[in-house]
Parts: sequence; C-alpha cells; structure tokens
Amino acid sequence: MTEQTGNLTFGIIKPDAVRGGKTGAVLQRITDGGFKIRAMKLIHMTKKEAEGFYEVHRERPFFGELTTFMSSGPCAVLALEREGAVKAWRDLMGATDPAKADAGTLRKEFGGSLGENAVHGSDSEENAAIEVSYFFSRLEMV
Ligand code: GDP
Repeated sequence: MTEQTGNLTFGIIKPDAVRGGKTGAVLQRITDGGFKIRAMKLIHMTKKEAEGFYEVHRERPFFGELTTFMSSGPCAVLALEREGAVKAWRDLMGATDPAKADAGTLRKEFGGSLGENAVHGSDSEENAAIEVSYFFSRLEMV
C-alpha cells in the first residue's frame, strides 16, 4: 500500500447519477483525470447510514432531504488517489449547484439540481480520511 495523507480523497457517485446510468461515464472521467481508484463498491445506504455520513450537516435545513435522497438508491463509493487529490477531485466535480458549475465539470454535465448533484467529494484531507474509513476497511484498500 502507498497510503500517503494528502494524496487520498473520498468520492461518491450519488444515487441520481447511478440511476441515470452515468456510473461508467463518471469513472472514465475519474481515471482520465489521473486518479487511481484505491477502493470502490456499490452500496444502498439506509437512512441511518446516510445520516451518519452527513452528521456534520445535521443542523442544516436540508438534512432530511439530503439523507432521504442519499438513501434513495445505490451509489458508488470511492477512495481516490492522486497528487493533491482533495482539490483535484473537487475541481473535477465543480460547484455544489450544477447551474453554477463550470463547463466541463461533472456536476455541470451530470447534476440535475442543488440537492441532486451527481457526485460528492471530501472538502479537506482530514475529512477525506474520516470518510474513507466510514465506508472502507484497510483490507478493502488496494
Ligand atoms: P458540497 O461539499 O459541494 O457537496 O456541498 P455542501 O457540503 O454545502 O453540501 C453537501 C450536500 O448537501 C450537497 O452536495 C448537496 O447534495 C446537498 N445540499 C446542499 N445545499 C442543499 C439545499 O439547499 N437543498 C438540498 N436538498 N440539498 C442541498
């Protein structure tokens, strides 16, 4: 294993994109972007599992909507490695609101709305480590 803090981030292909048949297209963009996929699986989160993942957003007005959406169908969870992975993955995703995302970003291309915006990415190295370990054991990291 080549575990190096700073080079790892966590991503989700959200239920809207998986439902829409975009998993393959997003994975292609990830590998084209120079990321190595260190771990990957399809999961269908329960509402409680989604609430655990988004715990930091519990007080936000959209928490209920967000966790209902994230548990509405399968999603693909990913551990991604690249130099400067956190920023590189957020750059590839684009702004939270697909309507405001730059051309060529995943959210612009695949996102439907502010809530259903196709992909998730960690916002810091610290959160990347927490989020990777929420979904993957060390044995699942290749
Ligand atoms: P991100 O880091 O770009 O994903 O954005 P945030 O951390 O601000 O929000 C987390 C996630 O909550 C977003 O990716 C959206 O899926 C969702 N979200 C943010 N704002 C809203 C909102 O106003 N309504 C709903 N339904 N979902 C939202």
